Amino acid sequence: MVKLGFYGAAGEVTGSNFLIDTGEHKYIVDCGLFQGADEITEHNDEPFAYNPSEVEAVVVTHAHLDHIGRLPMLVRGGYKGPIFTTEATIELAGLVLQDALDLATHRHERTGKPLLFERVDLQRTLEMFQAVPYHQRHALLGSDGFTLYDAGHILGSAAISVEAGGKRIVFSGDVGHAPNVLLPQPETGFAADVVVTEGTYGGREREDKLDRLAVIREAVDWVTERKGVLLVPAFSVERSQELLYLLNTLFNKHQLPKIPIFLDSPLAIEALQVFERHQELYRKDVQQVRRVDDDIFSFKGLALATSVDESKAINEQAPPKIIIAGSGMMEGGRIHHHLKRYLGWPNTYLLVVGFQAPGTLGDHILSGASTVNILGERIPIRAKVVRADVFSGHADNSELLDWLHGLRYADNAKVFVVHADADKTALFEENIKRAIPHVSVVAPELGQVTEL
Ligand SMILES: [Zn+2]
Ligand SMILES: [Zn+2]
Repeated sequence: MVKLGFYGAAGEVTGSNFLIDTGEHKYIVDCGLFQGADEITEHNDEPFAYNPSEVEAVVVTHAHLDHIGRLPMLVRGGYKGPIFTTEATIELAGLVLQDALDLATHRHERTGKPLLFERVDLQRTLEMFQAVPYHQRHALLGSDGFTLYDAGHILGSAAISVEAGGKRIVFSGDVGHAPNVLLPQPETGFAADVVVTEGTYGGREREDKLDRLAVIREAVDWVTERKGVLLVPAFSVERSQELLYLLNTLFNKHQLPKIPIFLDSPLAIEALQVFERHQELYRKDVQQVRRVDDDIFSFKGLALATSVDESKAINEQAPPKIIIAGSGMMEGGRIHHHLKRYLGWPNTYLLVVGFQAPGTLGDHILSGASTVNILGERIPIRAKVVRADVFSGHADNSELLDWLHGLRYADNAKVFVVHADADKTALFEENIKRAIPHVSVVAPELGQVTEL
């Protein structure tokens, strides 16, 4: 009997971690960090509910921290096997995990908060990665194996079909929002006995009436007119590159006013190189643009701030100006300095383009707080705050249902809803049952182990 254990992203969005136990072999899919409010992140301090040294292989969906952030802890805990994923994910994971360690080290020096893992754990983790291309079945132990499919969520992202103990278990990973700016549509159509699907926006349709370029143009025009500052807190991987690509598109169309634009994120700047190394993963139309525009992420007026001095120099630049900086949920990173400086100013336009987990600074600002605490100071919010869901990297309710509907289900197939807030899954479960009547649908609890 194959068992599936839900050790993260069960009843919440972050911390993805699933254990397949065939009775003979144990495999893990994703080993992500819990992120957001304290009562969520404290799960990171708990030991794994299984013995990492008994796990024989890990397969990873994509390079977001909520899917890879605890890999070094797994290795520290005794895991010695391979970590399989796409080549682009391996390259991005190296940058993302190093960045996470740097941030944690700073926090450790400031507050004494213990590190979850050390440099040596990270180094060993990176050595264990093995690249597997999309669509090529890769053998695990015995007759087990897995295949990766393009999830269209971030560069290199995958849905994983694992064959283990005679069951075909499909993990959606994070399903992309189509049309994505740079990536093709999420693939579906493969066979499944069991599906573990993300449900971040399950039960919710997003209002994507405006196109992304229009949203950016409106914000840029607003700050240009008022000599203001456009602040865009952005995830360093994918969202920042998308924003640059869209700004580059406006530039090519002569629709970008001549105002200075800063990408103030060393991680996003490094990730640019990974994107350019993997142009084969872009959508076909983006590949065509790339053939005539030799740098689709760069244009006149853009400055990349890698060093701290370059970042500080952004302050010297008189408005109007545009600043794109991490972190995406405004929990740390260079965006803090810019928020501290500009949130209290009525000519600031804060464009929120990413998911804000409950309890994060971004969540507080979006929910209408009048003041927030940043870097030890109480800051009033006088900026114009605009949330633009059209930039979301996640499929919404209809898109998730389309993806799920596209799979080929065995008789008595089961669907598990994960990667969603517990209070938001009921409606999504109903929708799935209606769209695919012959499957059973369950939202597992954290720590639950289910026989398949
Ligand atoms: Zn993701
Ligand atoms: Zn995720």
